[in-house]
Amino acid sequence: MTSQQPAWFTAGYPHIWTPYSQMKIALPPLAVARTEGVRIYLDDGRELIDGIASWWTACHGYNHPHIRAAVTRQLEVMPHVMFGGLTHEPALALAARLTEMLPGDLSRVFFSDSGSVSVEVAMKMALQFWLNKGERGRTQFLAFKGGYHGDTLGAMAVCDPGEGMHSLFTGLLPPQPMLELPTDADSIATLDRFLDQHAGELAGILVEPLIQGAGGMIFHDAEILRRLRAAADAHGLILIFDEIFTGFGRTGTMFACEAAGIVPDIITLSKALTGGTLALAATVASGKIFDGFWSDDPDHALMHGPTYMANPLACAAANASLDLFQSEPRLQQIATIADGLADGLSPLRNARNVKDLRVMGAVGVVQLKRLEDPKALQRACVEAGIWVRPFRDIVYLTPSFTIGADDLGQLTATLVKVLAA
Ligand SMILES: *Cc1c(COP(=O)(O)O)cnc(C)c1O
Repeated sequence: MTSQQPAWFTAGYPHIWTPYSQMKIALPPLAVARTEGVRIYLDDGRELIDGIASWWTACHGYNHPHIRAAVTRQLEVMPHVMFGGLTHEPALALAARLTEMLPGDLSRVFFSDSGSVSVEVAMKMALQFWLNKGERGRTQFLAFKGGYHGDTLGAMAVCDPGEGMHSLFTGLLPPQPMLELPTDADSIATLDRFLDQHAGELAGILVEPLIQGAGGMIFHDAEILRRLRAAADAHGLILIFDEIFTGFGRTGTMFACEAAGIVPDIITLSKALTGGTLALAATVASGKIFDGFWSDDPDHALMHGPTYMANPLACAAANASLDLFQSEPRLQQIATIADGLADGLSPLRNARNVKDLRVMGAVGVVQLKRLEDPKALQRACVEAGIWVRPFRDIVYLTPSFTIGADDLGQLTATLVKVLAA
């Protein structure tokens, strides 16, 4: 550590508790002074190319002038006002634009402030949809191995406990059925058998379409999603797509469900929604789901309302982010990034420790045979000038869509060098 560290830094962070960390042995977090484009500038003067766009949020790069200007304008007028009994243009405009962009009749937007909460809201919508109809036995969700849906208790219950970060809580959370994704004859038969026996106990089916992200960057075909849509229809179940990771272009289409040509009944969005500027999430329901709550009975209302619901600053950022998807060639850039990732990472294909290399949209994944020391790998990457966050047996790149060819080349070349060393 250099001598220019500010006092709060040299004091060794006595007051913060950092995410997913064993505080006693975790690497100390790197202090960041500022961000710009695809770069993170550290307090000590070093700069890193961000390979993961701050957990997949900063899809237009950091500090995009159009988003900054929109948030600044909104800050002058109204940083926040409660959403209970009041409403405002940034939220109304955003809701209208999201429903316009989404396929099918995903037409009612419920805003919240994080991905996990938007999943909780989706689960509550599905559970209460059935209660409002007078069906009381539908208390469960079918979820899939390798899935990740957030860190709050309800969302944790539908995460893969074996693979995810929540195995510790197995037995403490309400147990939910969890199957393999229906990818082959065996898993399809298992799904069919399960639904034949248990569909009446289910409120819905919950899946991350095309890529299971935090569970290990596992890819599947669009065909799987059509199969799930058909199964949900056959058994009258609510199909929920968690597109918190995949939404807004990451897999190559604006939403992953478009690649499958199907429409879920409820979709959750967050991560890139505000272009990495502010915390915001949306749970968007179809007309059919919304109609299940439409009643003269106050008990049929959706009883949820985050304090910072539809925060105007966050909505302004999201509207500006959507402007950029309209005015700039993002999907084209994503296709170019896909080629750049495939090319740039290809030297690893036959590397000794590499088990699999895969690319979809702006997601490049290197799966290792063994990743013994993710911290050492992360440190080596930082020393080489890139920011990645290896976990379990993978290192992945999910850069901003605005990354230039040179920076992308440097990102992949650095990763290749570090992994080959
Ligand atoms: C990140 C993520 C979540 C949780 O979002 P938070 O904002 O961290 O609560 C849920 N589902 C998926 C697919 C995610 O990638």
